Amino acid sequence: MSRVVTVEGLRKVFRLEGGGRLVAVAGVSFGIDRGEVLGLIGESGSGKSTVGRCLAGLLTPDGGAVTWGEDRVRAGSLFREFPGLWPAAGAQGEDRVRVGMVFQEPRDSVNRRFQVWEAVADPLIARGMRRGPRLAARVEETAALVGLDRSHLLLDCGGLPEELLQRASIARALIIEPTLLILDEPTTALDPDARAGVLELIRRLRGSSSTAILLISHDLAAIRSVTERVAIMYLGKIVERGPTDRLFVDPLHPYTRALIESALDLDPSTPMAPVELSGEIPSPMDRPPGCPLEPRCPWSIAGCAEAEPPEEDFGADHSVSCIRAGEFAAGLRG
Ligand code: SF4
Repeated sequence: MSRVVTVEGLRKVFRLEGGGRLVAVAGVSFGIDRGEVLGLIGESGSGKSTVGRCLAGLLTPDGGAVTWGEDRVRAGSLFREFPGLWPAAGAQGEDRVRVGMVFQEPRDSVNRRFQVWEAVADPLIARGMRRGPRLAARVEETAALVGLDRSHLLLDCGGLPEELLQRASIARALIIEPTLLILDEPTTALDPDARAGVLELIRRLRGSSSTAILLISHDLAAIRSVTERVAIMYLGKIVERGPTDRLFVDPLHPYTRALIESALDLDPSTPMAPVELSGEIPSPMDRPPGCPLEPRCPWSIAGCAEAEPPEEDFGADHSVSCIRAGEFAAGLRG
């Protein structure tokens, strides 16, 4: 599998009125391969959507670097230093890196006055493609990928059920043949049936497309069902990453363990012991020194508040930022 995008040390800081600074993304690194779905998990305020918006060119990062290594777009790799990233999604030429983004609320990203075919065709029309048989063929082809047939294409977006509208949003993002497809909470606004339909669509895209997919969500069950690898974000940092099967059964970071326990019914035979975090997630305007989980972690020790824990490798593409992860891996369960 070839690496499509490698993100290194991404940072995004928002300057607030009155002089404050909100560190939304505090140095995030990951890579995604062609045809892979990487899940980026985190609670509200963890910085995961900001990462997606930076990669889509909708926000300008304040630090870090991205390497695009998608040979279908350009032989070799395209390397850019921040700041001054690639233009916003939709502004790149056909030979450049293309990023498609799908947002949580489909009604916000699709013009309700459009028929479905217009909504899907719009990104190509905006790039200068003329209306005609070639455009119609691209629209039909892309709509078919997301399970929309010709009869759907003539419906008005304004009256479309949520699931069909989210499928239309995904088709809009796919029609540019993106190097990277970013799905930001694509199931959150959907009812259970629609959610299942969109997850099935992501599964099909994973199997049939060469696009790399970044799935950003706090829906752990959804992430578990469609991803091969996951990264867990807390207060602007990735605290644990690894194969989905491994992290959901035997996570090593206390935050990952607390998060999974709070959302899923776990197999009682798994080695995970319950973790109760105290208090609330701190404000990104007031990041604690050292480990960001230290004020809440039941297993913190003296060194936890002194320095940010380095990322430690636990094999099979699994890494953890916790100074006690070695103890947890060796069998200490709190
Ligand atoms: S480094 Fe310390 S405070 Fe942070 S998660 Fe590990 S044990 Fe808890």
